[in-house]
Amino acid sequence: MTAQRRYTIGVLMGFHMYDGSTPNTFVLPFLQGIQKAARDQGVNLMLSCGVSRGIAMDTLTYPAWPEQFSTAYFIPVGPYNTDGLLLFNPMQLPEEIPYIQNLQEKGFPVLFIGGGSGTPMILVDNEEGIHQALGHLVGHGHKEIAFIAGVTNDGDSQLRVKAYRETVGALGLSDDPRLMEFGEHNDVGGYAAMKRILQSGVKFTAVACSNDQSAVGALRAVREAGLRVPWDVAFTGFDDNLAALAQVPPLTSVHYPLFESGYRALLLLRKRIEFGPGSIPEMTRVNTSLVPRQSCGCLPEMLNSMTNPTVADADQAGPQHFKEELSRTMMESLLTDAAPSNLHDVRPLCDRLVESFFLSLQDGDLSHFQIGLIEVLQRIEMMEDDAHAWQAAISILRAGAQTFLSNEGDIRRREHAEDLLHQARTLLSESARRRYVRMQLQETQAEEAMGRLTARLLSSLDEEQIYSTLEDHLPRIGIRFGHVAFFEPLGDDPTGGSRVRIFQKDAPPLQFASRQFPPPGLYPEDEPFNLALLPLFFQEEKMGYVAFDGGNLVPLATVVRQLASAVKNAELYNKVLELSLTDGLTGVYNRRYFELLLQKEVERTQRYNRQLATIMIDIDHFKEYNDSFGHPAGDEALRRVAEDIQSGARRGLDVATRYGGEEFAVILPETAPDGAWIVAENIRKKIDSDSRFLRKVSVSLGVASLTGDQLSHTLLVEQADRALYQAKSQGRNRTVIFEEWMQESAHNKNASR
Ligand code: GH3
Ligand code: MG
Ligand code: MG
Repeated sequence: MTAQRRYTIGVLMGFHMYDGSTPNTFVLPFLQGIQKAARDQGVNLMLSCGVSRGIAMDTLTYPAWPEQFSTAYFIPVGPYNTDGLLLFNPMQLPEEIPYIQNLQEKGFPVLFIGGGSGTPMILVDNEEGIHQALGHLVGHGHKEIAFIAGVTNDGDSQLRVKAYRETVGALGLSDDPRLMEFGEHNDVGGYAAMKRILQSGVKFTAVACSNDQSAVGALRAVREAGLRVPWDVAFTGFDDNLAALAQVPPLTSVHYPLFESGYRALLLLRKRIEFGPGSIPEMTRVNTSLVPRQSCGCLPEMLNSMTNPTVADADQAGPQHFKEELSRTMMESLLTDAAPSNLHDVRPLCDRLVESFFLSLQDGDLSHFQIGLIEVLQRIEMMEDDAHAWQAAISILRAGAQTFLSNEGDIRRREHAEDLLHQARTLLSESARRRYVRMQLQETQAEEAMGRLTARLLSSLDEEQIYSTLEDHLPRIGIRFGHVAFFEPLGDDPTGGSRVRIFQKDAPPLQFASRQFPPPGLYPEDEPFNLALLPLFFQEEKMGYVAFDGGNLVPLATVVRQLASAVKNAELYNKVLELSLTDGLTGVYNRRYFELLLQKEVERTQRYNRQLATIMIDIDHFKEYNDSFGHPAGDEALRRVAEDIQSGARRGLDVATRYGGEEFAVILPETAPDGAWIVAENIRKKIDSDSRFLRKVSVSLGVASLTGDQLSHTLLVEQADRALYQAKSQGRNRTVIFEEWMQESAHNKNASR
């Protein structure tokens, strides 16, 4: 325990994080920001990530939740094993909000991401964003603007609807109610909503969407209707995620700085945990900015006329102040997608770029700017920051330069500036292409690694193999480890207990109350953990959960799905195997199993130099029993003897097998001769006093036990056999432990047996 206690922060979502195998594109960068902040702060982090059941479109929601209710899946990330919870809105199941309210009443620290369920919250400035989008469309001359709203029960959605109505009123736009439809914030919903608007016959020339995913669906619907974007209908989205960038034409969107917001959310919650209620504001606003692309009607050449208000005001204060302002704005735009901890790296780069731009303008030598830009691009490529953030930065540089030069009035210098910016554009797109190729290459490699993992998993025939496959292959897809936890009943709670096998050879599994995850010893004490917990389920069966290292969240749902089938597969195989290793008459294991198990136990005992015992058991005068009562009665007696042997042996330790005919053998791991003798006597007495036989039945038992350095499979069986022979010759119904002198005497008389 260090002087300062390390906090553990949990992250829950009111909905599921993975749809089929695909992570939610809104949540993903947000979580990455949270993870980065947790690393920087030295805080333990557990993400609780629900996975939808169906692969195809499924209308139900399957959040991962700290308690089991309706369609949620129980995952042990909750008030019982964290110091505070970050909660992604919207809450989609009726039990979720009351559950959290109850926690808050007890003083448990939480922070909501998005509005609608309570405070404190971190909230994107929805009004500002909608206002920016609509204002921009109006700037392109639109007056009838349709709105694809989100969902009715989500705070962000509601605020965006409200902002739409207010802006429509304020700007005097058409307020025909047919212009608005709810699109569920997803592709399919957006498509349906757009169709309804089209069918209503209402006149519109532009569509603003409450998020990017619904815009993707809506774009498909207008294209199907034969409309061209942006000429017939202009479009804007909200969030500015990768989906926006990938559209043709690229979608103009309201940029919601997701990564940065995640980073801030963690800092806020940490502060709340440390300093108590009231230490953080009830509401923390995140500012938005519009990223104009082509879907709104902006053509690439026109983008430079988009002025940023901060920069536009700045030119009043003179060039020096303007440069600083420009550099600061640029940096802020960069940081929307980069970690604030990179701030120190980025600021000098921005300064350098702005400086070189003006230097080139002043002396007419393009190379200053060129060199400056190349240097910056190289740094960015190494930093793996988001390319489109830099596109935005350059837009600001363009806009700023334009504003600056409009005061200048010098045509030549203006043309000169255009040249510079053209250069910048070319260099940037080359850089983007390089990044894209690298990304594709990485993706191909990741897919290949994933394919290999899947193939190996599905051919694994037992748990051990599955775990070693995970251990070998997960690091190749950027995941350091994944611990598989199976639910075990605890009291009357079927998921109350957990069992985790750890990747150390022959180490016993960790068993613990699920709510006490992670059990001591699973993770090193000296570094904070960063985990993502996903449900492990097969069809309707809730098997447990998997705790992954959170290094790469993208493939996790695919891995758990494959893992679940692999575990089921191995279970099935083991069932078949078990059938083939069980004796049909008595139900105990058969000779084949005896040989396999003994082999395994011998190896283990040798490796750790421990002790292994075996008991050979033979029914006395059994031929007579058969002769007196018939073979079927003999069979019945055999079954009872087997029962007695099993109940006389130590449960969970000793393994009873039918060695053949009327002989049985017991394997006793970690057992010395005296211990084995006690077990043998126990068995003998059980049979001796069993009144279910048609006449008295007894057995003779031979015991042998060897330590690792003397032990061999054949020697152990041979010695037990010799002891058994002695028991017979000493009068039967008795136990004899092997002793050295029997070696000789048995050898001589062996032929007679
Ligand atoms: P001892 O005390 O020396 O062991 O005498 P024993 O009669 O038990 O020894 P022996 O090896 O001569 O006979 C074993 C008998 O076990 C022969 C056979 O009838 C009987 N037996 C073996 N397998 C089965 C079985 O599956 N069902 C039945 N009913 N009898 C069996
Ligand atoms: Mg026999
Ligand atoms: Mg016998």
